[in-house]
Amino acid sequence: MYYCSLFIAKRYLCRYFRLFVVVQLFLKKEREESLLRFHPWVFSGAVGQVKGTPQEGDVVAVHTHTGDFVALGHYQQGSITVRVLSFEQRPVDDSFWEEALRKALMLREACGLTQHLLPFHPSPFTSCYRLVHGEGDFLPGLIIDIYADTAVMQCHSIGMFRARQNIADALLKIYGNRLVTIFDKSAGTLSCKENDGVPDSYLYRVANPAGEMVENGYRFAVDWEMGQKTGFFLDQRDNRKLVELYANGRSVLNLFCYTGGFSLYALGGGAKLVHSVDSSQKAISLVNHNVYLNHPASTINHQSYTADAMKFLRDVEPNAYDLMILDPPAFAKHKGALHNALQAYKRLNTAAFSRIAPGGIVFTFSCSQVVTKVDFRNAVFSAAAISGRRIRILHQLTQPADHPVNIYHPEGEYLKGLVVYVE
Ligand code: SAH
Repeated sequence: MYYCSLFIAKRYLCRYFRLFVVVQLFLKKEREESLLRFHPWVFSGAVGQVKGTPQEGDVVAVHTHTGDFVALGHYQQGSITVRVLSFEQRPVDDSFWEEALRKALMLREACGLTQHLLPFHPSPFTSCYRLVHGEGDFLPGLIIDIYADTAVMQCHSIGMFRARQNIADALLKIYGNRLVTIFDKSAGTLSCKENDGVPDSYLYRVANPAGEMVENGYRFAVDWEMGQKTGFFLDQRDNRKLVELYANGRSVLNLFCYTGGFSLYALGGGAKLVHSVDSSQKAISLVNHNVYLNHPASTINHQSYTADAMKFLRDVEPNAYDLMILDPPAFAKHKGALHNALQAYKRLNTAAFSRIAPGGIVFTFSCSQVVTKVDFRNAVFSAAAISGRRIRILHQLTQPADHPVNIYHPEGEYLKGLVVYVE
């Protein structure tokens, strides 16, 4: 009796599922290996027969060449043809999005990042975190960052973009009135053809957002409308904390400072002086504002410079600083740019190692996905050798827990950092 009802339920579910998914893709023979190991992408070269006419962003079912169901996901023309949403036969409906976002929030709760949702915040607390990190949360093509009472969504696939309102509704179900705005910032990540020229816009807005948040007790103003990426780099939270630990009594140079995250932590950690450098005038205005928010006393020893980091570094007097932070933008966005990117990392690190005071510490990073940990370490090794200094690695850094790496998708591990001691 029990098995009979289970069988009926399964048949019902499969029929229900077929109502939602009309297009079926059949893989070429022996091309299902990586999907069976839960890798979330189907490459165009693996696709054989297509049953139906898939439109960009449709949810499609993927089968082996013999017809066994393997996965379902968003279809898009290009080298990645399907981004997998589920390895189970289930409809991608409102309950799918709600369940996926609840799971994402559970992970952040487990990491102690959702303190701002508690009635009494601990002190110092954090009110900003990444809620959805694409493949790391089994939602390829979707980024959602939470900035206190605001969620900023960024879609990297047409399927996610088409689902943005359903995703916003699921966010509201989970957060309720603790969210006052949801902003879609996908215009820069999708081409005009892909998003029909839809500009960045509010998907939900009931009140004016605070526009300010707290990270480990430090206050930050955030500008998601005009700022870079979703408005703030949440991925350096843990590494900033380490800078705070090393900063006491040191003279700090923070290159590529953007909103001044590392600078605030260095000042909070007791740095003697902090100089922040960025080529963007807007970034420098944000740094100055954020320094003022946290240290209104004008006696604070902070100066900011709108300048090219490499030029600034070349003019630095040797021994002027004994703590440097190098956090450049991704030098390589694709494999073709890898060689030049590695040369650029080498030049930047050589310049820093050549000028830092004896006993100084350099925090050096690469956020280029195509640069592996080994590539980056080799570039830093070459820089060390050229500078002729004795250099030891103190810490090997990466992205924080709210940027999880799906073990079946190692490409998701993009942030690499080394903390080195320079004699
Ligand atoms: N460290 C920052 C994030 C850095 S993002 C943080 O903790 O938030 C990279 C920054 O480098 C951006 O703000 C960008 O404006 C800046 N940038 C890009 N090219 C630059 C250059 N040649 N010189 C100085 N800054 C540069």
